Amino acid sequence: MPIIRVALNVPVDTLFDYQAEDVSKDDIGLRACVPFGKKQVTGIILAVSDETQIPIEKLKSAHGIFREIKPLPAALLDLFHFCSQYYHHPLGMVILNGLPVKLRNNKPVNLKRKPAQYQYSLTSSGKNVAVTQIPARNRVARRLLGEFQQTETLTSLQIKHISPRAEKLLQDWIQLDWITAKFCSTAAVARVAEIPVLTAEQEVAVNAITADAKQFNTWLLHGVTGSGKTEVYLRIIESVLVQGRQALVLIPEISLTPQLEGVFRARFSTVPLVSLHSGLNDTERLTGWLQAQRGEAKIILGTRLAVFTPISDLGVIIVDEEQDSSFKQQDGLRYSARDLAIFRARQSAIPVILGSATPSLESYYNALTGRYRHVRLLSRAVQNATLPLIQCIDTRINKTQEGLSGPLIQALDRCLQKKHQSLIFINRRGYAPVLLCKSCGWTAPCQRCSSRLVVHLRDKKLCCHHCGHQELFPRACPQCGNQDIAPFGQGTQRVEETLTADFPTARILRIDRDSTRRKHAWQEILHAVHTHQVDILIGTQLLAKGHDFPNLSLVGILNADGALYSTDFRASERLFAQLMQVAGRAGRANVAGHVLIQTEFPDHPLYQALQRHDYDALAQTLLAERKMAGFPPYVYQALLRAEAHHIKTVLDFLAQAAQLAHPPQTVELFDPVPAHMTRLKGLERAHLLVQSSSRKHLHAFLTGWYAKITTLPSQKVRWVLDVDPLEF
Ligand code: ADP
Ligand code: ZN
Ligand code: ZN
Repeated sequence: MPIIRVALNVPVDTLFDYQAEDVSKDDIGLRACVPFGKKQVTGIILAVSDETQIPIEKLKSAHGIFREIKPLPAALLDLFHFCSQYYHHPLGMVILNGLPVKLRNNKPVNLKRKPAQYQYSLTSSGKNVAVTQIPARNRVARRLLGEFQQTETLTSLQIKHISPRAEKLLQDWIQLDWITAKFCSTAAVARVAEIPVLTAEQEVAVNAITADAKQFNTWLLHGVTGSGKTEVYLRIIESVLVQGRQALVLIPEISLTPQLEGVFRARFSTVPLVSLHSGLNDTERLTGWLQAQRGEAKIILGTRLAVFTPISDLGVIIVDEEQDSSFKQQDGLRYSARDLAIFRARQSAIPVILGSATPSLESYYNALTGRYRHVRLLSRAVQNATLPLIQCIDTRINKTQEGLSGPLIQALDRCLQKKHQSLIFINRRGYAPVLLCKSCGWTAPCQRCSSRLVVHLRDKKLCCHHCGHQELFPRACPQCGNQDIAPFGQGTQRVEETLTADFPTARILRIDRDSTRRKHAWQEILHAVHTHQVDILIGTQLLAKGHDFPNLSLVGILNADGALYSTDFRASERLFAQLMQVAGRAGRANVAGHVLIQTEFPDHPLYQALQRHDYDALAQTLLAERKMAGFPPYVYQALLRAEAHHIKTVLDFLAQAAQLAHPPQTVELFDPVPAHMTRLKGLERAHLLVQSSSRKHLHAFLTGWYAKITTLPSQKVRWVLDVDPLEF
């Protein structure tokens, strides 16, 4: 009996062999349900063979093979293989992580096809079925077969008209080979009326990319905020659609999906689009996934996981806001969807476009060195819209009250009088970042994390933003007994309270993770902003991304200084990108924009570059620093991360791993150190950094090292390799 070799979702980098009847090489990529220990699990068949290393008496038989769909076409399998090798993660876990939940279950999937899009034709065996073979009580079935025999083909719509119940028969009849189904392509690209004329810069970008659309290239579409990158995407997607091919668009956050989805649906109203994001239920995700695989969905829009969608005829990949760290998964398989998108494009010989106003230094460096092709949009697309005026308010001179300085309050007042919208950006939700005892300096800590609890005054609670732990306010300081404990510092809720008191007639809306938890909250907020039912917005980074608020003229930025002197070498890069993005919300249409940054360090090079909108100046400075210090993009890094209940266990484990390493001269191995946030969710964490100026050498080393680490006793430790880490 033949052997199938199955990839399973288990943390061992091997395939598992089972006996199976009636299998051939064509079955590679199918799902198989197999016994594993005492359980039944479902995995993917990756090889079919006559031989196995397993003694025959130990070899078990597969319970069954699901043939209704093939989840893994060859191209996707290559992507998973690459992902497993590059990130040093077991192949089975990589594959199962990338599949919709419904395909990981031990059950066949129920393939509901969307009606309206199909055309059904009678087969020759269907022609030979006599209507009288169907029992007379099945009136609908008799009528449907009669109709088929008269006209031979019916669309789903016609079938619906015959009877709403007729549809149910179709799948059975397909199984019986009475009829076949074909997807009717309605993907004609209808042009809608209000398509803007491209600006000269956009035209250069679109022409350059479409002229070279038949081969792999990584394009860095580097355009200032409001330069119309979306329009460039739309034109490129259009050129792909008219060839009948599909486009994959990756975006960072779920909150961006409805807006971009709306833009795409409006432009390509007749083109089937699926949107894959974490807000979908399992059935919706599977349906979208299948539509992409069958080539029915022409535009696939999604967050990082969508990079693993099977797409039969991919023509372009777009990664919007490529610098965004949410493209990197921060637990389990720590992959970068942006980097995998580039691999995928290379494999499919198509262009991939990385869009950003503030590219990651890695991408910028690749563009400078010619590895990526660089196209720039230097001015805003809307006529007369200019970049906002950015200024600093020196809070050493202009003292703040409740976090707000006089000049900012005055600017808000002027903005209100002009009936323009304004936005206060503060990247801290809750009421105040700490609860402080004024007599002894005690602050409320999280017991499970190395962090302080955030004050949520409205709920009278202290919350940990890392582990979700909540507790009630203490009545008195647990350290000295003093009752004079109070919230210290500002969060979005406190700013909201202050502004409500300062501007009692203004309509104020707070936008943070607490206020957007409800389903549809985002749509409602965006609607309120667009229809000018809001005067002042208060928001965290959630607001900074991608949203286009035409009537917004003032942006105030609070408490940004913290990141200037962070120990994280990427902190400046991130702060700059974030502030540039927030600043970019102002003055996008006919309203001139003004950005005020409250800071104690107005002369800092980062703020200086920001005021001049000079990404290149800051990027050059940061690159020079990185080169001196030996940081990415000048070196490639990997972290061995480990966590356990006690830091000593973790550090001992890492020390043992270091002993096994024997790195070559070109690979540098550092000492184990506790993570920046040592305790998280009750576990203590540490890591060990390895780096090299040669990616090849680093990876050759990692492969050997990984195998050795797996031999270490590690019952008490959870460990993972993080390749190209973003967090330390
Ligand atoms: P970005 O993503 O680069 O920040 P957007 O794509 O959001 O910029 O575009 C900013 C604004 O410019 C949008 O309101 C968009 O409709 C408008 N826009 C884009 N291209 C053009 C154009 N060629 N002519 C006029 N308006 C445009
Ligand atoms: Zn105290
Ligand atoms: Zn916590």
